[in-house]
Amino acid sequence: MYLAKIGKLKIVWSRELPAIPSSVTVIKDSAHRYFLSFVVEIQPETLPKTDNSVGIDLGIKTFATLSDGQKIDGPKPLKKRIKKYRKLSKSLSKRTRGSKQYEKARLKIAKFHAKLKDTRTDFLHKLSTEIIRENQTIVLEDLNVSGMVKNRKLSRAISDLGWKKFRTLLEGKAEKYGREFRVIDRWQPTSQVCSCCGFRGGKLDLSVREWECLNCGRKHDRDTNAAINILVAGGHSETKNGHGGKHKTTAKVAAAYEMSTHRGATAR
Ligand SMILES: [Zn+2]
Repeated sequence: MYLAKIGKLKIVWSRELPAIPSSVTVIKDSAHRYFLSFVVEIQPETLPKTDNSVGIDLGIKTFATLSDGQKIDGPKPLKKRIKKYRKLSKSLSKRTRGSKQYEKARLKIAKFHAKLKDTRTDFLHKLSTEIIRENQTIVLEDLNVSGMVKNRKLSRAISDLGWKKFRTLLEGKAEKYGREFRVIDRWQPTSQVCSCCGFRGGKLDLSVREWECLNCGRKHDRDTNAAINILVAGGHSETKNGHGGKHKTTAKVAAAYEMSTHRGATAR
């Protein structure tokens, strides 16, 4: 690929282009990597219908708990490389802002972050594809990451997990493969209500992972119970667009989805 003013780039294709592109967008990230995003017209590939539906509870410790009881841990790429990260940021703090050495150290950190991001993106892609393949209806709780946590540190940890991106991917893939994607209101007490009998047990402290219903005696895993309630709420809700009903994929969401899946070329 030859780009004016930049020169030749060695391309790493994320996948083959399904048709001749009508346009291309070039993005350069802080790690000096170029991404090419192509716009192509495709035929929707509808997957064979299935009777399965799933509710998904997203969490910090366990990335996703499904209403069938499956628990999926997210990757923790930083944990393994924390020593390296400390070394890199220490080296950056020693340099003078604006110097050549500073730029070198900054680029190293940017590359480090880019690697972490790639690991997470890969995980989110694989998980969302799997969930879409296996289920006809997918129900998620509405996520308001910035409003949910005032604590900046925690808020950052959550945005690092990729909840928002996960939702965007599910939404885009549901549209692409003819699946139903629903979002329920985040103010529904999904973790407080017994999914067995509907008894409202009251607010649970975050540290309580298991509880027993005072009414029917059923033992619950906190997250699995919440995921079942999310699924039920999604199935019975009448309202539209983001507050319970079928959520339409907007052009903006579709564009974001394109961006994340049609990464054309990478140059390092
Ligand atoms: Zn109960």
